[in-house]
Amino acid sequence: MAKIGMKTALVEMDGDEMTRIIWQYIKDELIYPFVDLKTEYYDLGLKYRDETDDRVTVEAAEAANRLGVAVKCATITPNDARVEEYGLKAMYKSPNGTIRGIMDGTVFRAPILVKGITPHVWNWEKPITLARHAYGDVYRNTEIRVPGPGKAELVFTGEDGKEIRKTIAEMKSPGIIQGIHNLDKSIESFARSCMNFAIDRKEDLWFASKDTISKIYDGDFRDIFQRIYEEEFKEKFESLGIEYFYTLIDDAVARVVRSKGGFIWACKNYDGDVMSDMMASAYGSLAMMTSVLVSPAGKYEYEAAHGTVQRHYYKHLKGEETSTNSVATIFAWSGALRKRGELDGISELVDFADRLEKATLDTIEEGEMTGDLYLISSLENKKKLNTLDYIKAVRKRLEN
Ligand code: NAP
Ligand code: MG
Repeated sequence: MAKIGMKTALVEMDGDEMTRIIWQYIKDELIYPFVDLKTEYYDLGLKYRDETDDRVTVEAAEAANRLGVAVKCATITPNDARVEEYGLKAMYKSPNGTIRGIMDGTVFRAPILVKGITPHVWNWEKPITLARHAYGDVYRNTEIRVPGPGKAELVFTGEDGKEIRKTIAEMKSPGIIQGIHNLDKSIESFARSCMNFAIDRKEDLWFASKDTISKIYDGDFRDIFQRIYEEEFKEKFESLGIEYFYTLIDDAVARVVRSKGGFIWACKNYDGDVMSDMMASAYGSLAMMTSVLVSPAGKYEYEAAHGTVQRHYYKHLKGEETSTNSVATIFAWSGALRKRGELDGISELVDFADRLEKATLDTIEEGEMTGDLYLISSLENKKKLNTLDYIKAVRKRLEN
């Protein structure tokens, strides 16, 4: 059988630990036999990031902006323990943070639904994709511990020296103060990324904030979303029959739980942080969550939402058998190949991505799965496979 050709290369960002092992298995078993794969390869494994003083991460992100589509393996974010383990020259920043900074993107996370794994919220029939704003708010805060009575003020000094000053509180006793900010430009990018993604997926977009309480700060988010929608997206949404819907965050939470799913939920930074963990566990498994970073310029970076599965990797190094779930990483590849196919007009590549996803899910629905799913699947005839055997079982279906 002739392999499917590609025009433009994908940006391939390799990573760490167990997911690096899976990465190679996926390419060898599920991609190379079927696709004449073209990639621009960047090794984001911690060892090579250290050798290049983390320049490789920056170069990979710039390549994603240049070529338009990237696929990324999970990577270690160094902490003290990792600095010692790998003898690092520095405690490098999170690669995902670096890439997000350069692509100026928004992260969309969606669960992969499969028969036998029922969401804890039984009425969720379709995936809910969560979009989290990734700039400012409490993540770039400044805080003061106040030792005793005094006046807390909020002061802005313009470049022209003019001051805007407001009293936060006349404090009669010790306490705490916090200052946070955001930028219209960042909120506009976030709104555009969300609206482009909704068009891409042909799904409704929901956005919510606490504008009843935070009339200026959250009100700004609400107004910017509304303006961008009306000026740039309304016509396109209406022609596709999809809706932009704004509500109060409390109301959104209640509606989400009662919904059937099948829409995109845009969240402010903190709401997105908390709600994405809630959604991941409510849908059943962290190993079944996909993640895609979409820039306002329409560049895409696909990955799994989970980390490098360190505990399994150490078992693997000791020669013990592992049963690590590769589904989200396979979907990162299929997502990237599909997008490349769409952008380059290669329908065979789009079809291949569909078939790869179908084979991945059929394998599980026919009872062959890794240990994490085996524990929670309600299927009667189910079998637990090791890491590589699951991928081989997918290949068998792909070949048929
Ligand atoms: P993790 O790798 O997501 O794993 C946490 C636990 O979740 C695992 O120990 C495993 O549970 C389960 N799990 C996650 N993915 C699984 C899969 N594919 N198959 C089966 N089980 C899976 O998170 P972590 O242990 O907190 O972090 C490990 C490293 O990953 C860290 O260095 C962190 O910096 C990095 N990380 C990277 C990214 C990214 O690149 N996007 C995201 C998060 C974390 P059991 O051990 O109980 O089987
Ligand atoms: Mg969190």
